[in-house]
Amino acid sequence: LAKGMGKGDWQRYQSDLASAMVQRLEMRTQLHEAIEDEQFMLQYQPIVELADQRVTGVEALVRWQHPTRGLLGPFHFVEAAEESGAIVGIGAWVLGEALRQFAAWKAADPDTTLRYVSVNVSPRQFRAADFVEQVRAALIEADARPEWLLLEITESLVLKDADKVVQDLRALRAMGVRVAIDDFGTGYSSLSYLRQMPVDVLKLDKSFIDDILTSRQQHALVDAIVTLAGNLDLAVVAEGIEEPGQMLALDAMGCHYGQGYHFARPLWPADIPAMTASVRPAAVSA
Ligand code: C2E
Ligand code: MG
Ligand code: MG
Ligand code: MG
Repeated sequence: LAKGMGKGDWQRYQSDLASAMVQRLEMRTQLHEAIEDEQFMLQYQPIVELADQRVTGVEALVRWQHPTRGLLGPFHFVEAAEESGAIVGIGAWVLGEALRQFAAWKAADPDTTLRYVSVNVSPRQFRAADFVEQVRAALIEADARPEWLLLEITESLVLKDADKVVQDLRALRAMGVRVAIDDFGTGYSSLSYLRQMPVDVLKLDKSFIDDILTSRQQHALVDAIVTLAGNLDLAVVAEGIEEPGQMLALDAMGCHYGQGYHFARPLWPADIPAMTASVRPAAVSA
């Protein structure tokens, strides 16, 4: 028995453990059914140009319409899906759906301000042997241009067997697809390391943005990252902008793009065209 644990605590611990295992198994089965039943849906969060707040892209964010638990965000299932491998099928669906939707927006409004759709790719999905081919096939199937697609990968992916990853990133970029490092700053990679990575965009994690108005150090750090990224020809998207002051500070630093509740929350597809028509009736607020 762990120190300080009574017999009752121990039994409770054991039964908690057992029910956690049952829940995981249940989740696995449900995830597989969910792919077949098409229970996944996408919301899209605008990414704006800070200078004029025009919506230049959207990030596709997966949701699960669970049969009994209601609409679930990724926090509730992406980790389990990554562990079980279900994320490979989910990710393939997300990629196809996001490209189909984006092609439809482009077709409906040739003057849309939208230039790209950003799609999250899990490490397991990226490592699947034929990922590059999957992307190529999805583009063809959706009749989408490669420039319309921005793939978001994580620092952790880049840090493990870098050679293979670099090779695949090069193949994707040769196709015309762009690549972003998502949640930059939460992992262990450095900008000097990133320089060797064939990526186009750096998405600065929300945790870096949160304190830029209240902490001089945090402000200085973000300022330095934005400058360095610019020198490395990387575009920077600041994530999680919630206040106008943050937007102004980032714009002053030379950060060109932002995303966050200040501009818009993740939206259902039907709400996107009104925000991306070339002439908008009024400024958009969240
Ligand atoms: P992420 O890629 O960093 O996406 C941004 C997350 O931050 C989204 O949460 C978004 O709703 C939230 N967010 C945006 N602006 C703000 C803000 O101003 N304040 C706050 N508090 N939050 C903000 P969401 O949709 O819950 O997604 C969470 C994570 O799940 C994503 O983080 C991404 O890592 C993962 N994810 C989402 N969709 C997919 C997918 O299709 N495939 C994979 N593999 N992962 C996904
Ligand atoms: Mg993302
Ligand atoms: Mg992100
Ligand atoms: Mg994030």
